[in-house]
Amino acid sequence: MTEPIEITTTSPHETRLLGKIIGQSIDQKMTISLSGDLGAGKTVFVQGLANGLDVPSDYIITSPTYTIVNEYPGRLALFHADLYRISGGISGAAELFDIGFEEFYDTNGVIVVEWADRLAPGELKENLAVSISTVDDLTRKFILFFYGREKKILVKRLKKTFETHKR
Ligand code: ADP
Ligand code: MG
Repeated sequence: MTEPIEITTTSPHETRLLGKIIGQSIDQKMTISLSGDLGAGKTVFVQGLANGLDVPSDYIITSPTYTIVNEYPGRLALFHADLYRISGGISGAAELFDIGFEEFYDTNGVIVVEWADRLAPGELKENLAVSISTVDDLTRKFILFFYGREKKILVKRLKKTFETHKR
């Protein structure tokens, strides 16, 4: 694991920008976990991520509440899951198995999972863990943990790229 990166956003627009910058830098299969309370901005972040992966803008990205996993076409396919209604811990993992979630790991796409903390630690084997906390109405604090050596370059640039583009 590399050093965690902290980034604060002060609007939904900035959160979309952060997601977009990360999405643009992705050129291979990867799994991203998102944790944070209801209204933290997980889905807003995924909207930016989709943009950065060139998902056509006519797709409206919302939390896949009833389907559990939505798939969008882009440079890489984007699989967007929301585990809000999955039970916690071991039984959560069993439920995921039941809905065929494991199949997504075999695809070459980007898997992004809201409420990933519903799963037992280590279950998702994510390459990037994003934790979002609400500071106030418009302010969100992001802590990003990248796993794996190949992500180091992205880590170095991410904060700088974000600061440069947000103005
Ligand atoms: P979650 O998926 O985590 O439950 P959503 O992304 O659906 O949350 O909603 C986040 C809400 O917070 C939206 O209504 C959005 O407009 C609002 N918001 C305010 N400030 C921010 C910010 N800095 N980043 C993301 N969302 C924000
Ligand atoms: Mg959501």
